[in-house]
Amino acid sequence: MIVMKYGGTSVQDDVAILRSIEAISRQRDLQPVIVLSAMAGATNGLLKIGDLAHQGDAEGAKAVSAKLRDHHIAVARRLLTGERLSKAEVFVNDCFCHISNIIQGLFLLGECSPRTKDAIASFGERMSSFIFAETLKERGFPGALVDSREVVKTDKNFTQAVVNQDVSFPLIRERLNPLLAAGQIPVMQGFIGSTADGVTTTIGRGGSDFSASLVGAALGVEDIQIWTDVPGILTADPRIVPKVFKIKAISFAEASELAYFGAKVLHPSTLLPAVERNIPVHVCNSMAIDQEGTFISAERIPSSTPIKSIACKKGITIVNIYSTRMLLAHGFLSRIFEAFEKYRTVVDVVSTSEVNVSLTIDSTGKLDAILAELKAFADVEVETDAAVICVVGDNLRSTPGIAGKIFGAIDNVNVRMISQGASRINVTFLVRGARMEEVVRRLHDEFFASPDPELFEPC
Ligand code: ASP
Ligand code: MG
Repeated sequence: MIVMKYGGTSVQDDVAILRSIEAISRQRDLQPVIVLSAMAGATNGLLKIGDLAHQGDAEGAKAVSAKLRDHHIAVARRLLTGERLSKAEVFVNDCFCHISNIIQGLFLLGECSPRTKDAIASFGERMSSFIFAETLKERGFPGALVDSREVVKTDKNFTQAVVNQDVSFPLIRERLNPLLAAGQIPVMQGFIGSTADGVTTTIGRGGSDFSASLVGAALGVEDIQIWTDVPGILTADPRIVPKVFKIKAISFAEASELAYFGAKVLHPSTLLPAVERNIPVHVCNSMAIDQEGTFISAERIPSSTPIKSIACKKGITIVNIYSTRMLLAHGFLSRIFEAFEKYRTVVDVVSTSEVNVSLTIDSTGKLDAILAELKAFADVEVETDAAVICVVGDNLRSTPGIAGKIFGAIDNVNVRMISQGASRINVTFLVRGARMEEVVRRLHDEFFASPDPELFEPC
């Protein structure tokens, strides 16, 4: 068994859907389970409808809604005929009837609860999967639509719901195993689930990769394939570095480090259910289905190139906290972190000395309140517009002199905060935002002048 997950651009129109189905047909005998995103732009459009409606712009909401409806109907018409086309048209029109009722409600109420947001957002995946399943049948494949809300059970934390795996796993198996045994191709929605009493929830933006891992873990599949619109995981952001390489194989640990620091290919927590069960994940390119993507597995892969990739992220804020008074006092660090915890602000990079703690955050919405708490016991200084650079590679731990090589390559750049994780597979540091691109390019030149061809492929 395998899971094949298609992102928004892989189901965005008839051409994309047919390409995705071609990839499925080639792996037909591996018993694929299909997990889908909404068509590209649909989730944003649906959430926009919710916003416009509760802000009083019912006309604007209806206009966005009509555009989305037309797109889904047009795609269905290009893919389906006869009975199947009528079914799809009825389904899409029904969805937009519900959406139009929701628009009315929101307009009158003047507010949009997280619960209603989830109800609206869920239509994206529900429509893409319906059309996709019908298209499979149209092409002679036994597609079987499964409503993920019946098997993916979550808490009530709408828009960010947490999946209850103990409840969901047996449900997923009970529902899917008989379909697979009967030779059918189950088609499910990513991103959505429901509470114990059946109210629709979503698990967070970009969450359908996580759904795919979850389904894969529940079924104990051999491979989870994440089909997206890039060649795989790359050695750097191709918008910054002109000559990047595709990484053929990477470990879970390395991929997770990259995901946290801005490599957009994977949702950071996507890999967890797969990692826990040692299920390999493939990132595949739905624009070029013949090419091999990136293989991610628990295994460490030896290579003569010490690093795998350079991730980076701008718009980072550094908070420097000094306290001579608290020096050597226990509880200093916990008081600092309590302030961030209280305002639910995520801290990314941390480095400390005897009298100073520096940390980084990327969302500053609650920064003033946090600073007020910190200033009660320490001097605080804030630096904005920083960029985090994260150099990742399993061989960092076994390659002597690597730090020298990294910082030697950028010797005239002012480096702020340096941190090396306990896993020793990454070196993370901060520079001024304006210098980020140059730093990434120089590091890439240094490490990828002629990378190990076993592991890296020009792209
Ligand atoms: N459609 C959802 C989103 O755009 C989920 C996903 O694509 O992963 O966030
Ligand atoms: Mg997506």
